[in-house]
Amino acid sequence: MKKAEREHVNRVAELGCVACYVQSGEWFTPGEIHHIREGQGAAQRAGWLEVICLCVGHHRHNDKVAKKIAVHAAYKTFAATYGDERELLALTLNNI
Ligand SMILES: [Zn+2]
Ligand SMILES: [Zn+2]
Repeated sequence: MKKAEREHVNRVAELGCVACYVQSGEWFTPGEIHHIREGQGAAQRAGWLEVICLCVGHHRHNDKVAKKIAVHAAYKTFAATYGDERELLALTLNNI
């Protein structure tokens, strides 16, 4: 991982969960780095510049109490609710 990539990933992580922003209008919910098109296999995995930040409830496990849908649990519902990965990437890049 190159230095510029690491710096970029740090900025994305500092911004916080992009789906929380769509859901609540607030940035800075701590989260994890999610690779765009992660589900399509390593061969097609996008580079370090194509990452977004998602909290656990928006990344791995649906959170019924907080009404969060996780990208890895229910991608179609996630995309219909918050926007697809490309839209969330654009939103991220416009705000870092
Ligand atoms: Zn979130
Ligand atoms: Zn992920």
